[in-house]
Amino acid sequence: MTFSDLGLSPKVLSAVTDAGYTEPTPIQAGAIPHALAGKDVLGIAQTGTGKTASFVLPMLTRLERGRARARMPRTLILEPTRELAAQVEENFVKYGKNHRLNIALLIGGVSFDEQEKKLERGADVLIATPGRMLDHFERGKLLLTGVEILVIDEADRMLDMGFIPDIERICKLIPFTRQTLFFSATMPPEITKLTQQFLQAPVRVEVSRPATTATNITQRFVKVGSKPWAKRDKLRKLIDDEGETLKNAIIFCNRKTEVATLFRSLVRHEYDAGALHGDMDQRARMAMLENFRKGNLKLLVASDVAARGLDIPDVSHIFNFDVPIHADDYVHRIGRTGRAGRSGKAFTLVSRADQKYVDTIGKLIGLDTEWLDGDLSTLSAEDDADERPRGRNARRGGHKDDTAPQEKADDARKPRREAIKSDNAERRTRKDADEAPAHPRQPAKDPQRSRAPERAARPERSDRHEQREDAPLGFGDDMPAFMKVSVKS
Ligand code: AMP
Repeated sequence: MTFSDLGLSPKVLSAVTDAGYTEPTPIQAGAIPHALAGKDVLGIAQTGTGKTASFVLPMLTRLERGRARARMPRTLILEPTRELAAQVEENFVKYGKNHRLNIALLIGGVSFDEQEKKLERGADVLIATPGRMLDHFERGKLLLTGVEILVIDEADRMLDMGFIPDIERICKLIPFTRQTLFFSATMPPEITKLTQQFLQAPVRVEVSRPATTATNITQRFVKVGSKPWAKRDKLRKLIDDEGETLKNAIIFCNRKTEVATLFRSLVRHEYDAGALHGDMDQRARMAMLENFRKGNLKLLVASDVAARGLDIPDVSHIFNFDVPIHADDYVHRIGRTGRAGRSGKAFTLVSRADQKYVDTIGKLIGLDTEWLDGDLSTLSAEDDADERPRGRNARRGGHKDDTAPQEKADDARKPRREAIKSDNAERRTRKDADEAPAHPRQPAKDPQRSRAPERAARPERSDRHEQREDAPLGFGDDMPAFMKVSVKS
């Protein structure tokens, strides 16, 4: 099958050809003809399957008729994260190069004013995160009665992030006569209920998961002891041991506070590292991603939410600093490497407390878990000793930053680290220092999070216990200058 068999317009076909695509992916072949026919579509597919084009291409074809009116967008695409929303916008720009469409991106972390101006001018396509979209609606800047096509993307991730009530509300604000294109990687009961409520006789298009255990990804589990610094020690050793074969890596943590702590630790040890988590302002997140995509940054420490669905084509290594609690997240994480047939490596650090999660992952991927250097039963008594001071003054006492004594003194590995440090890092730091925004460390003003200001502004109780008492939130004084580079968003 070719793209021209699908019923797309000549303008769209020409842009697809220019993008270099010759054959539609299964989700595209399955969804596009129905979407063009105006039917509701339930697409069960995850990122990496070409699902973005499966809704962008028919939307572009259908938008060729009619034009935008002020404050009344014709189509609405809801995305769970700002990065995914920005990625969909890029797709509209790429495939819509032969169209003159007005696109408005409504995401948190950036000013309302510019977004309002775009809405005033009339948007054909509105790409939004649910919280920011509702904020505009509540300010009276947006009318949803003109929406002809609604796309709900990554619905299961919306569920994880607590957006389902917002989605239900938005669905009720849009005319019943609309067309709905709904995408989710999995179908938990809450999502099934949502589709029953808001889709009309949908055509179901399901594509199989990309192989979870692609043979081109080497997966290894790595035992770690229970000392507070054991994981950071082990991670550095793994990175050093990979040497030149490590082109770049994403290091996943389960919580955003852990992202910040690990990032600070890596920078302190002179690794070329950056971080991506939900509490960073949008400008910093975009700059960080851009640097990583361009190869200016070797190690990206990230949370699942921030990294989910991102299309970063060439990642050589994945490190799971924390074992993911949901086995599905393991598949998503390691799927960041080994893309397009390249080979990749994934290492997962495992302590005794993680055993049950590893077992679930093993069942999901249907493979025996392979250990790098012996499984947990081979941990020595010394590895197992938890040296955290106990008692009333423990947290104020000598163990303030969980830093291993040897970590502080250890300079022996420095020469090897130099190989990991990008030559560009220093040059970049000097160049970018001049371009730093005025208040790079201001907390993001994201209405999505302003709904839970306490949570957004401060780490949760248990998180705070893990941090130094004097530790600044965010990245403190360790924020590298390249994070402050200004980007167009
Ligand atoms: P997505 O699942 O939408 O995130 O797309 C994953 C990647 O596949 C993106 O880099 C797209 O540019 C690429 N892609 C989408 N459709 C095709 C196609 N028909 N042939 C080759 N690559 C594609």
